[in-house]
Amino acid sequence: RGALDFLADDGGLSAQNRSFLRLVKPLAVVEDNVFLAVAEDFTKNYVETTLRGQVTEALSEVLGRDVRIAVTVDASITPPPPADGETDEPRPPQVRRPEVVPPPVVEDPHLNPRYTFDTFVIGPSNRFAHAAALAVAESPGKTYNPLFIYGGSGLGKTHLLHAIGHYTRHLKPQTRVRYVNSEEFTNDFINSIRDDRSLSFKRTYREVDVLLIDDIQFLQGKEQTLEEFFHTFNALHNAGKHVVITSDVSPRNLDGIEERMRTRFEWGLMTDVQPPDLETRIAILRKKAAADAVQAPSDVLEYIASNITSNIRELEGALIRVTAFAALNRQPVDLSLAQVVLKDLISDDDSEITASTIIGKTADYFGITIEELTGTSRSRVYVTARQIAMYLCRQLTDLSLPKIGDHFGGKDHTTVMYAVKKVEDQIAQRRQMYNQVNEIHARIKQSRA
Ligand code: ADP
Ligand code: MG
Repeated sequence: RGALDFLADDGGLSAQNRSFLRLVKPLAVVEDNVFLAVAEDFTKNYVETTLRGQVTEALSEVLGRDVRIAVTVDASITPPPPADGETDEPRPPQVRRPEVVPPPVVEDPHLNPRYTFDTFVIGPSNRFAHAAALAVAESPGKTYNPLFIYGGSGLGKTHLLHAIGHYTRHLKPQTRVRYVNSEEFTNDFINSIRDDRSLSFKRTYREVDVLLIDDIQFLQGKEQTLEEFFHTFNALHNAGKHVVITSDVSPRNLDGIEERMRTRFEWGLMTDVQPPDLETRIAILRKKAAADAVQAPSDVLEYIASNITSNIRELEGALIRVTAFAALNRQPVDLSLAQVVLKDLISDDDSEITASTIIGKTADYFGITIEELTGTSRSRVYVTARQIAMYLCRQLTDLSLPKIGDHFGGKDHTTVMYAVKKVEDQIAQRRQMYNQVNEIHARIKQSRA
C-alpha cells in the first residue's frame, strides 16, 4: 500500500489516475509477482492498461527488484473511506468509479442484479405477466407497448421490471434502459423545476429505448408530475420506444391516471400477478435456497410455504431467518427448528407495523435518539442501527425503497437497498447481527401486543 500511496500522492499522476489507484488493494507478493485486487472488472482493465507501467515501476522500486503485477477482481473489496469517514456508510457501487471516464457497457446501477428472468419462478399466478415481460425484453418497441403489470405487494412486479432491463441489455448491450420508481421520478421532476434543469430531466427520461416505471400508483394526486409523465409517455411511445409500467392497484382504481391513459393502455397489454399457489411458493423457496447455497429439507420448505402465503418477500424473509439461525447455532435446518424460529412470524396478529415504530424501537435498543438514527453521522453505532432499521422496514412493512428512504431523512433508495443487502448478508455471518435484529424484531412485535 505504501508504494501505491506514494504514487497516488506524489507520483505526478492525473486526478483520474489517482482516484483509480485508491481503489487498488495489494494482496500479496509472491516472488516476482505482486497480487492486487480491485472490486470491479472496469477498474481491473484500467489498472492493467493505463496504470500498469507506473504501478509496476513504483512497486519495483520499493521492493528493490523487478516485479510483475497481477490484478484480480474481488467484489467484496470496498474502497478506502474518505478522510473524515469513520465507517462503512452505505455507498452504492456506482460511486466507486471515478467520473471522468466514459462508462463502458456495465451493469446498470439502477437494476438489482438478483432480479433476472433466470431467478424468476414461473407458475400459474404469474405465467402471463412473465411471458409478456419476456416478449418485451426480446423486442422492445414492438409488441405490448405499453406493458402494464399490476398486483399486490411482494408478488414480483419489480423483479419482472428489472428482469426486462437486464435481458434487454443482455441481448443488445447498446439499448438504453431506464428503470425508475415513481417516487424517484417525482423527486427528480420536482428538483428539476427547482434547479432549472428541465432539459436534463427530459434527457434522462426521454432519451431512452426502454422506460421501466415502477409503482405508478404513487403518482396519483400529483397533478404536475402526472402531466409530465403523460408527456414523457407520449414522447416515448411516438418515437417507438417501450414503456413498461407497474402498479400495486388495478388500473381501474388508479384515480386520475386511468381516464387519461385508457386509450393508451388499450394499445398495449395489461396483465396482473396473483399470489402464488403452494407449488410455486415451494419452488421459489427451493430456488432461493439453491441460489444462497443453503441446505433446507423439503418439509421445512413446505412448512414455510404453507404458512406464508400472500407475499413472496415475506416468504423469502422466513427462509433467511431459519437458515441463518441454523448456521449460527451450527444446527441442521429441520422442521422443529423452523417452527421455533418462525413462531412469531406465523402468528395471526397482522396489525400493521409502521416505520416509526421500527425506527423508535431500534433507536431505543441502541440507546441513541431518533435524530441520530435517521441522520447522516457515519460512526459505527449509528450506521449499524440505521441499516438494521432499514432492513426491518423492508421486512416488516410494505413500504417501497424510496419511501423507506424518506423515513430516514430522505436517503436515496440505493442507500436503502445497500443497507438491506448488507444486513441480510451479515445476519448469516455474524451472531451479533443476528441477535440484534431478532431482539429488535421481537420488541417491535411485543410493543403491539
Ligand atoms: P413487488 O414489486 O410486486 O412488490 P418484488 O418484485 O419486489 O415484488 O418481489 C418481492 C421479492 O420476491 C423479491 O425478492 C423477488 O425476487 C421475489 N419474487 C417475487 N416473485 C418471484 C418469483 N416468481 N420467483 C422468484 N422470486 C420472486
Ligand atoms: Mg415493487
